[in-house]
Amino acid sequence: MIMDEYIKFTIAKQKHIALIAHDSKKDEMIEWVEENKDILKNHFLSGTGTTARLISEKTELPVRAYNSGPLGGDQQIGSRIVEGNIDFVIFFWDPLEAQPHDPDVKALLRIAAVYDIPIANNRATADFLITSRYMTEEYERRVINFNRIMADRINKMI
Ligand code: PGA
Repeated sequence: MIMDEYIKFTIAKQKHIALIAHDSKKDEMIEWVEENKDILKNHFLSGTGTTARLISEKTELPVRAYNSGPLGGDQQIGSRIVEGNIDFVIFFWDPLEAQPHDPDVKALLRIAAVYDIPIANNRATADFLITSRYMTEEYERRVINFNRIMADRINKMI
């Protein structure tokens, strides 16, 4: 049996957006969310603990809060991506400061790449993403078909 190299998943019109900002970037995140409130209110928002709470308080948008980043919030968001429950990420990480949870940050960036998830790591990219025509359309993301890789590996071993 020949298996496809990629499996397609649909990012629906209404996106499941995760918002994360390191401490030095939280003001910028709140400002960005405020600026784009009219678009973001049409989607499902979540975020790491402190970021989510600050955004809800300052903008009055509902944001589901996961754990704080240093307590595993980035990993929770990564696992939601794996499960297909988060399909869009805005992550303003601090390029000038080491974080205690740097390995989690790297893991989240990796998992977003594996699952072909749009992820903005700075404001310019976030502005381009939020003004994309795909914000109001469905989008087919492509994920490598690991069943095929496993089948090839097993075939080589037997
Ligand atoms: P926080 O976590 O929103 O709880 O501050 C963000 C992070 O450090 O990844």
